[in-house]
Amino acid sequence: MKHSLPNKDTRFLYLEPYTFSVMAGNDVLIYNSLNGKILEYRDSPSIVEIIRKTEDAGGGFLAEIDRVSARPEISSLISDLRENFCGDLISLADQHKPSVIRPKAIIKNYPPAKDFPSFSADDYLRTIYFFLNQNNNKVCTDYRFAASQFVCPVFNSQGYSEMPFETVVKTCSQFAGVSGMGIDLSGSDLTAYSEINFVLKRIHKLQSRVNFHLPLPCYDQDIVSRLLKVGNSRTSIYITFPDGPSALKEIRINPEYIKKQNRIDLNFLIRSMEEYQVITELLQGNGKEKVFFFPYFNGRNADFFKENVFLARNDILALKPNQKQIYSRSLINEHLYGKIFIKTGGEAYANLNHDPLGNINKESISDLVRNELYNGKSWGLTRLKVKPCGDCLYQLFCPPIGNYELFMKRFNFCDVL
Ligand code: SF4
Repeated sequence: MKHSLPNKDTRFLYLEPYTFSVMAGNDVLIYNSLNGKILEYRDSPSIVEIIRKTEDAGGGFLAEIDRVSARPEISSLISDLRENFCGDLISLADQHKPSVIRPKAIIKNYPPAKDFPSFSADDYLRTIYFFLNQNNNKVCTDYRFAASQFVCPVFNSQGYSEMPFETVVKTCSQFAGVSGMGIDLSGSDLTAYSEINFVLKRIHKLQSRVNFHLPLPCYDQDIVSRLLKVGNSRTSIYITFPDGPSALKEIRINPEYIKKQNRIDLNFLIRSMEEYQVITELLQGNGKEKVFFFPYFNGRNADFFKENVFLARNDILALKPNQKQIYSRSLINEHLYGKIFIKTGGEAYANLNHDPLGNINKESISDLVRNELYNGKSWGLTRLKVKPCGDCLYQLFCPPIGNYELFMKRFNFCDVL
């Protein structure tokens, strides 16, 4: 990019490397990721033009400013930037442009080149989530969309079906001992799975971190005790209404449960404030489990859902992401990345709201990971790629797109746009 010859009144504006800017139409937002300061300018085409120049590598990330003819809004931009440690003016006393760096995020080998010689699925994969059984019992029909709204073993299926445990063993044996790799064993009722004894005998041979997912009220005291005894494992319990809370009361007196409380997650699927009240009473005073609440949208509780899932502008701006989060969110979806879900029939998904990537009975896990990396819709789904978020000044602040949004096919769970 060419600049006119600088004179003694010419200065160059730069932004610090730890600042981020977003432009949409004539609006611009500048965010200092170190001190959390946010500068927002609306309907200011001249400020947008200047900030755009500070983003341009071809122009050395510098915007030329003539001190004499600078408009008042530009002068006030410069004072704001200085006061908030976001940037400053520099002169060219020695007639050479200083070097300014505005880093951009790059993930090594992501997506991998198609002829990348040593493609390895475990460079990308973090969790494989197997549904060992599926059902259409009452809990599954009452919460038929739960697995589309958040990670959950409950969803309605056509009748009862099971996955042979051999499928899990075959798929996971190549990842034995790979650090950071997890196996999630789930299903509409794990305790009713016909091969559960085989699972409990063989699971340690997979040498991976295991998470068992168990909906209540389906449970069997003896099997739950044995699941809890598996080393290097966590158990995620999903409590549904109306029978889940009383089943939880019963299971919480199990001696193995009491011993292993810090390895248990309690996930409450709630549809109303009344259900929330029941849970707060239930949890009063004791327990070392990690507790999570998942508002469940059943088509009839829009007000409750909106109140508990939607974010207000001030809440969004208070999120203050750090540099690492901003870089990673500009390339991948941190919530969805690295996960594969496999149903009883072998159909594999990067996300249950998207089309299947293939079938584990016909393709290797590496092929499925490749399919997602090259053609998939989930792992790389950033806010920049969807409307209206892609045109929103607050896209840096919002958490990555989640299952609720994919399920509802709407990305602005907010009061901004
Ligand atoms: S429109 Fe999208 S990016 Fe903007 S605030 Fe709403 S959710 Fe966030």
